Amino acid sequence: MLDELYQELLMEHFRNPRHRGSIDPADARYSMVNPLCGDTVEVSLSRDGAHATIQKIAFSGHGCSISQASASMMTSLVSGKTIEEAKAMVAKFRELLSGARTPESAPELGDALALEGVRKFSARLRCALLAWEALERCLNSLSASAPNSSSGDPGAS
Ligand code: ZN
Repeated sequence: MLDELYQELLMEHFRNPRHRGSIDPADARYSMVNPLCGDTVEVSLSRDGAHATIQKIAFSGHGCSISQASASMMTSLVSGKTIEEAKAMVAKFRELLSGARTPESAPELGDALALEGVRKFSARLRCALLAWEALERCLNSLSASAPNSSSGDPGAS
């Protein structure tokens, strides 16, 4: 199915997931289910409000190797990134899986490039995207709540 090297990377993340757990208290939390495969992924994160960055991020859930490895790869990639950088990575990952973007044009996706081969198996696309869509919901909810609301200056939003 996948290129051998990529397959190894995927299994490595599946067996030794990064950032598995739950952030509590979290600034954003979102759970997603993939009914096609039975995968579940919950993403929780805390924000460094002063720098609009993802301070801590974790995922929990269960399911196939693609869904869980993808969550491990995603959390590793976006930890410490700004909200805007993380949103851009979600967009690029989606483009990668739709074939609209080549792996060479998105080096910042790092290990997640290993999932590029999934695009040839449309039944597995939901598995690969699940954690990223949960992240996107979290980021959108952060954007909706003004990031600098605690720094004084009630006139600005
Ligand atoms: Zn799956």
